[in-house]
Amino acid sequence: MLRDWRSELNRFLILIAVAAVIGLLAGKLTLLLLLAVSGYLTHTFYQLYRLYSWLYHLSEATQSELPEATGIWGNIFDGIYRLQRRERDAANYLKNILNKAQESSAALEMAVVMVNHKGNLEWWNRAAEKLLGFRAGDDRQQPVTNLLREPRFFEYFDGGRYNEPLNLPSPVNKNVVLEFQITLFGEGDRLMLVRDITQMHKLELMRKDFIGNVSHELRTPITVINGYLEALLDHKDSFPPRWAKPLEQMSQQGQRMENIVRDLLTLTRLETQSLPKQLDRVDVGGLLREIGNEAGQVFADKSHEYVVELDGQYLLQGSLSELYSAVSNLTFNAAKYTPEHGKITLKATLAPNGLDIEIADNGVGIEEQHIPRLTERFYRVDESRSTETGGTGLGLAIVKHVLVRHGAKLEILSQPGKGSRFICHFSAERLLPVDA
Ligand code: ADP
Repeated sequence: MLRDWRSELNRFLILIAVAAVIGLLAGKLTLLLLLAVSGYLTHTFYQLYRLYSWLYHLSEATQSELPEATGIWGNIFDGIYRLQRRERDAANYLKNILNKAQESSAALEMAVVMVNHKGNLEWWNRAAEKLLGFRAGDDRQQPVTNLLREPRFFEYFDGGRYNEPLNLPSPVNKNVVLEFQITLFGEGDRLMLVRDITQMHKLELMRKDFIGNVSHELRTPITVINGYLEALLDHKDSFPPRWAKPLEQMSQQGQRMENIVRDLLTLTRLETQSLPKQLDRVDVGGLLREIGNEAGQVFADKSHEYVVELDGQYLLQGSLSELYSAVSNLTFNAAKYTPEHGKITLKATLAPNGLDIEIADNGVGIEEQHIPRLTERFYRVDESRSTETGGTGLGLAIVKHVLVRHGAKLEILSQPGKGSRFICHFSAERLLPVDA
C-alpha cells in the first residue's frame, strides 16, 4: 500500500519536475507548473467522478463494469470492488443458510415455533399448522396463549421452568398427544418444539396397565402361598428337621415377592391416578414421631437411637397416606442400612423456600456414582445387601413419585462409611398456617 502511495507521489513529482524543466527552458515556469497541477487535478476529478457514478448508479446496473484505471485510482477501484464482492458473498452465504434452515425446519415432522419476548408468534413451520392448527399469515403476531388455550399450557409458558417438557392433547385433535418443550434464546424470545408422542403415550399406558394388571393378578396367589407357608412354619416341629431351612427360605422369598407386588401396585397407583382433590392437613411432627416409633419397633433388634428434631410446628397440605409412605420408606431404608446402635434423625426445618424434611443416618452410606440413579426402579447399590435386608429396589422410586406429585424435590447427600441424608424440599405453597 505504502508502495502505491510512493509511486503516485513520484508520478506527481516527475510531472512537476518535467513541467519545471520545460518551463525554465521556455521561460514560462509558472504557466507550465500551473498547467501540470491543473492537469493532475483534472485527472483526479475525472477519476473521482467515475468512482462516484459507479457507486451511485450501482442500484440500476448492479453488474456495471468497474471503471478501469491505472495507479492509485486503479487500486482504489479494485479495493472497493473486492470489499463489495466479499459483502455480497457473505450476504449470499447467510441467505443460503437461512433458506436451508427454513427449508429443513419446514420439512421437520416436529412443530417448530418462534415466539417473541411479548409472547407473540413470529414464525412456525408446516408441522405447527398440522399439529397446533396455526394458520399461515393470519396468526402471525398473535399471542401464543390465544391460540393454545389449555390452562396447563398457560402455566407452563408463563412459569418459565422449561427443564421438563409438558404433555397435552393437540388443540386440533384430542386423540393426539403432544409434547411441548420450550427453550429461551435471544432477549426473552422462545423457541417451542412440539412433537407428536401419541404412540409413545399409548405404549407407556400399556406398560403401566400391564405392570398394574400383573401385580394385581399375582397378589392373590402370593398371599395364599404365603398364608400356607406361615401355617406350615407354625407347625415346623411336626416336619422332618431337614425341611425347616427350605420352609424358612420359601417364606422369606414369598415375603419378598409380596413386598415387590405391593410396591409395584403402589407405583402404578401413583403413576395412573392424580393427587386426590381433597388433600389432608398433615401434621409433620406427628408424622415423623409416628414413623420413628414404628421403625424403632420393626428394627428393635438393631437398637438404633431415633431422634425427632423440629424447629416449629408445621402443617403440610398433601396426601397423608402418600407422605407417610415416602417418609417411612426413607426411615426404613435408614434403619436397614445402618448397623446396630446407629443414630437415625427425622428432622423438619423451615428453609428459605419452604419446608425441608430430612431423614439422616450414620450408617453405611452410598458412593457418589450411585446417587443419581438411586430413584430408578430396581436400582440397587449392592444386590446382595439389598436382598438380605428384604429390599425391593422400589422404595426410592415411590418416594420420588410421591414428592413429584407434591411439587417437592429429593436431595441425597451421602458419604460411604459416614452415613446418608435424604432431604425432601417442599415449597412454601404446601405449608398451611398452623392456627387456621
Ligand atoms: P431397596 O428396597 O433395595 O432398599 P430403595 O429404592 O429403597 O431399594 O433404595 C435403593 C438403594 O439405595 C438401596 O438398594 C440401597 O443400596 C441404597 N440406599 C437407600 N437408602 C439408603 C441409606 N439410608 N443408606 C445407604 N444406602 C441406602
